[in-house]
Amino acid sequence: MEAETQAAETRAALVAALRLQLDWGVDEALEAEPLDRARRPEVPATAAPPTAPPPSPGRSPAQPALLPARLPTPAGTRAAELAAGATSLAGLREAMAQFDGSPLRETAMNLVFADGVAESGLMLIGEAPGADEDRLGRPFVGVSGQLLDRMLASVGLSRERDFYITNILPFRPPGNRTPTDAEIALFLPFILRHIELARPRLLVLLGGVAGKALLRSREGITRLRGRWHQVTVTDDQSLPALATLHPAYLLRTPSAKREAWNDLLMLRRRIDGNE
Ligand code: URA
Repeated sequence: MEAETQAAETRAALVAALRLQLDWGVDEALEAEPLDRARRPEVPATAAPPTAPPPSPGRSPAQPALLPARLPTPAGTRAAELAAGATSLAGLREAMAQFDGSPLRETAMNLVFADGVAESGLMLIGEAPGADEDRLGRPFVGVSGQLLDRMLASVGLSRERDFYITNILPFRPPGNRTPTDAEIALFLPFILRHIELARPRLLVLLGGVAGKALLRSREGITRLRGRWHQVTVTDDQSLPALATLHPAYLLRTPSAKREAWNDLLMLRRRIDGNE
């Protein structure tokens, strides 16, 4: 019976992987003519350099990567106190709902706390809710969340069973703008406490904001991705974290799906104890 269940799960994961490849256009011709990739393109001597830079991962143009050290503000101190006082996930949610130190709370419709299975051992962390998430009060339910679910299904992971998901910011920034460094720093105590209380074995950081907030790195997500890092959660706890591209970036930049796929395979291997 167990073997049958396992076979059915493997089949479902394979079908999901094939479906994802179809979604990603494996059956679509990109050009009318076949492309000879071995031949060097002929560039006219007078060709102008490209004017626009390639799109950067994340929601909008990148900000300086490292969060500057900040003096504690009254709101920051309050956030740290509320986070430290929470002893359960439900308590943390309540503490975040009480926190009135951010104007984002006034413009957002809902607090977006988390979704999925807190006890699964795998925690995914994105940037901030978008319009759909704000309306429904659940993370990653819009188009990028749906893509993310399909991607994870392709390596046999489902939100109902295998992972827990949240964001650095629990409130939608107006117009989906990129969170500022000050906003990220303000909500940092909550996400760190969230990780501590959910007690995952592995983290996945989705996109540049999650990478910047939790890895405190100067590098952008295109350099951080595809590698396991350590996230310091408390003075005596750190966790392995895989950095990868944000699904919203993949929607805008289909050519990056190959890297995202490699990251998913890395995650699968680690979960299976093969890495
Ligand atoms: N993008 C995110 O980073 N989080 C969400 O919940 C939705 C979109």
